[in-house]
Amino acid sequence: MRLSKLATVPVGLALAMVMTACGSATKTVDQEQTATGSSEGALVGVTMPTKSSERWIHDGDNVKSSLEKLGYKVDLQYAENDIPTQVNQIENQITKGAKVLIVASIDGTAITTQLQQAADKKIPVIAYDRLIRNSPNVDYYATFDNYKVGVQQATSLLVGLGLKKQDGSEGDAKGPFNVEIFAGSPDDNNATFFYNGAMDTLKPYIDKGTLVVKSGETDFKTVAILRWDPATAQKRMEDLITKAYSDAKVQGVLSPYDGLSIGILSALKSSGYGTADQPYPVVTGQDAEVASVKSIIAGEQYATIYKDTRQLAEVTVKMADALLKGGKPEVNNTTDYDNGNKVVPSYLLEPVIVYKDNYKQALVDTGYYTEDQLK
Ligand code: BGC
Repeated sequence: MRLSKLATVPVGLALAMVMTACGSATKTVDQEQTATGSSEGALVGVTMPTKSSERWIHDGDNVKSSLEKLGYKVDLQYAENDIPTQVNQIENQITKGAKVLIVASIDGTAITTQLQQAADKKIPVIAYDRLIRNSPNVDYYATFDNYKVGVQQATSLLVGLGLKKQDGSEGDAKGPFNVEIFAGSPDDNNATFFYNGAMDTLKPYIDKGTLVVKSGETDFKTVAILRWDPATAQKRMEDLITKAYSDAKVQGVLSPYDGLSIGILSALKSSGYGTADQPYPVVTGQDAEVASVKSIIAGEQYATIYKDTRQLAEVTVKMADALLKGGKPEVNNTTDYDNGNKVVPSYLLEPVIVYKDNYKQALVDTGYYTEDQLK
């Protein structure tokens, strides 16, 4: 990376010098492009966290193909959840002359230096799905309504337990029910939004004793799963069963992501859940990943939250296109996403709860998956 960085400097300098010498311009190529708005065929740097979760593969593919349709060149990189790798990828994209950066960060606080480098070169930055924190150099943010995702996850848990109906009215069940709480990665800003949305919804039930967290573990730090790692969630669920369920059954698990739900269900299975006598508890999720939708159809995982990554890609590509053409991207929220340095203008999309009885309508009829993919 260092080598290629050094290599490009003389080329850039040489170009600027030639242009100045010819008297045709006193600006570098970069400045010329920004000034005239000529962005045809510009390079866009796209960095995604990992290929280990299917959603990010769809995100990357959708963003890349939509940008290419508009004539842009795309450098799409995945970092397998390794922060230094993502840092290098962003630096490389800046060196390669990217004109916009689209970043789905691994650790939302770890790329401040790179974003400063981007700002120094007047490269706008769009935070994709996850807010980039503690930097003034985040220009726009495209995401789903993350607080609402959390509310929906908790709602699906309440519906599964019979405390609420899908239409939002009160359910017939009375409880009390034993539940356990999981949250996402503490370095991902979204994880706190999901947790807050969910806990605001569950708290009245916990306060009344309708929901009982037998482990006593409810605060974010204790229940968060670093890097959204399914194996860590599986281990934590095993530990919870040992610690709090020797003479009781767990009836609900708030899980914030399908990958974690799979780990949680495996732990439950090894402890004897998933039979007619001892059914699985109500387990929630997020992302409508194929394995989890299949699990929902099979009656194992109870629900997931569908976030149409095609829509997110479309909104983000529109933002990038507007920026590249010297325009102003459309946003619909200018209050909620304070990154610790500024409120980042955002575009929020709507998440949808998916249960066994609406998966066809939500996922197949919309063309997100074919029925065959879910068999
Ligand atoms: C995303 C979720 C995803 C999670 C784990 C979050 O930032 O918003 O959709 O489940 O990361 O990849």
